[in-house]
Amino acid sequence: MTRTKLIAGNWKMNGLAASTAELDKIIAGAKELPSRVELLICPPFTLIDRFADRAERSRVAVGAQDAHPKASGAHTGCVSAAMLKDAGATHVIVGHSERRTDQKETDAEVNAKAAAVIGEGLIAIVCVGETEAERDAGRALDVVGTQLAGSLPAGSTAANLVVAYEPVWAIGTGRTPSTADVAEMHAHIRTRLRDQLGAEGEGVRILYGGSVKASNAAELLAVADVDGALVGGASLTAEQFLPIAQAV
Ligand code: PGA
Repeated sequence: MTRTKLIAGNWKMNGLAASTAELDKIIAGAKELPSRVELLICPPFTLIDRFADRAERSRVAVGAQDAHPKASGAHTGCVSAAMLKDAGATHVIVGHSERRTDQKETDAEVNAKAAAVIGEGLIAIVCVGETEAERDAGRALDVVGTQLAGSLPAGSTAANLVVAYEPVWAIGTGRTPSTADVAEMHAHIRTRLRDQLGAEGEGVRILYGGSVKASNAAELLAVADVDGALVGGASLTAEQFLPIAQAV
């Protein structure tokens, strides 16, 4: 089955109003991309409204990096999926390993957040991935299987769910797993998606993330069941980000 490749940029806690110039360059470069690739930029909350306005009617979608599970209420400092939708976001990353570590997010919380995102009609990008110690102990497949079982909400479909496999030890380190290890993990995730979601699991896109850059993108994106990439550091400039999309 053909799944349109998704190249998503996770800007993390980077970007100010002046970064709109970089978005403009990404939007301009995206016009030249073949239709088999979709582009997404997930800036910090503060830039979503501005970026979504700017990217309207372009090839670039705008997303967020987290959402609160509730729609509104007494949750100081939090932002809901309804608010993100209102600001123009179409996708929301949930359960990134930095949040699972720094904010101690559990699979149950990630599940509730993804359910809220999907409930608003947005696309949830649910992140999973093992630590280096877990891989060394031979537990990578089990760990990711458990995360999937706990983090994917009821009602997930090929249209509203994307899974991002991001080995924690590959994020921001310049290290990547071998293509054989990526192939093994993505095949495992596909099997789990079919088990959990039935036929819909076949259409869910599985992104690889962790030190993706122009020089390794073609190799990673050629692996079976790698349906795109979630890119951190190399998504911050058009110069680094666009060649990754061109590698599709
Ligand atoms: P990186 O980050 O590309 O800088 O390794 C990926 C991510 O955390 O999504």
